Amino acid sequence: MARQMCESCGMPLKDGVRGTDADGSASDRYCVHCYKEGAFTAPDATVDEMRKYSIQGMTESGWPRFLAKFVTKNTGRLPRWQKSDTSVP
Ligand SMILES: [Zn+2]
Repeated sequence: MARQMCESCGMPLKDGVRGTDADGSASDRYCVHCYKEGAFTAPDATVDEMRKYSIQGMTESGWPRFLAKFVTKNTGRLPRWQKSDTSVP
């Protein structure tokens, strides 16, 4: 089974870092940094902004910076960025 990752920033999804849907249930697509209560936290963000934001979020939660950079290297290939429409799925 492939490890699940946030479809917006690429960080591994595990319990405690999952975003929340509008009804408060845990999202299985996005992390808490990207998605809260059914909406993206930064709906207008570009890939580069998201990458920076993700690195910051991960290092703040204890990730080594090099690892955060590695994880976010492919941010632009994630499902969220494959179409120009960034509205809530
Ligand atoms: Zn995320």
